[in-house]
Amino acid sequence: MWVWILKPKQLAMVLDELEGFLRPKPSLEQWRTPGGIAAELAFLASPQGRSVVDLGTGTGILAIACKLMGARRVVGVENDREALEIAMRNAEKLGLEIEWINTDVLSWQPRESFDIAVLNPPFGSVKRHMDRQFVEKALEVAEEVFALLSSRARNFWLKNYNARILRTYSFPLPRQHWFHRRKREFMEVDLVYFAGNI
Ligand code: SAH
Repeated sequence: MWVWILKPKQLAMVLDELEGFLRPKPSLEQWRTPGGIAAELAFLASPQGRSVVDLGTGTGILAIACKLMGARRVVGVENDREALEIAMRNAEKLGLEIEWINTDVLSWQPRESFDIAVLNPPFGSVKRHMDRQFVEKALEVAEEVFALLSSRARNFWLKNYNARILRTYSFPLPRQHWFHRRKREFMEVDLVYFAGNI
C-alpha cells in the first residue's frame, strides 16, 4: 500500500492540499495545523496498526495524517458540524475510512479506549482552561497523547503531568488575526507528549 512509503515532506504536501475551515469561528478557536507540523506529529506518534482519536478534529488534518501513516482505526471528534463536513470531504477525496463523531469533546464518553490521542485543541484564550480540559479528556480515553499546545502553558504541563516537550514550532496565526497588518504573525506552540492514565 502506498501509504507505507510516505516521507514526511510528501505527507506534508498531501495535508497542505486539504480543504481548510471555510469561515473559521473565533469562539471555537478554529486554527488549522500547517501540513508540515501535522506530518511531523503523525510521524512521531507512530500510529501504524494502532487506534487513534483526534479530539477537536476541525477539518480533519491530524486524523487524516494518522490514517495515511497506517493507523488501523481513526475517530475524529468535533462539535462544529460545518467543520466536520469538510473533514468528511477531505477523507473521502483520499479514499480514507475514518469515523467522524459530531459532539462536544468534553462530554463525550466513548465505550472504547484508544492507543493514541492527537489534538490541537483550543488554547483557552476564549474559554479559560479549554486546553486543560481537552488534555484531561485525552488522558482519560487514550494510552498516549500527542498535543499541540501554547508554549506559554509549558511549565504547567511539565509540573503537573507526566509530560515531555517533543518539538517547538512557530505557528502562523489565523488569517483573521493578521490580514490587516503587513507582516504575518506567529505564536510559539509545543508538541507535548503525555503518558496516559490507562
Ligand atoms: N485539529 C484541527 C483543528 C484545530 S482548531 C487542526 O489541527 O487543524 C480546534 C478545534 O476544536 C476546532 O475545530 C473547534 O471547532 C474544535 N472545538 C472547540 N471546542 C470544542 C468542543 N468543546 N468539542 C469539540 N470540538 C471543539
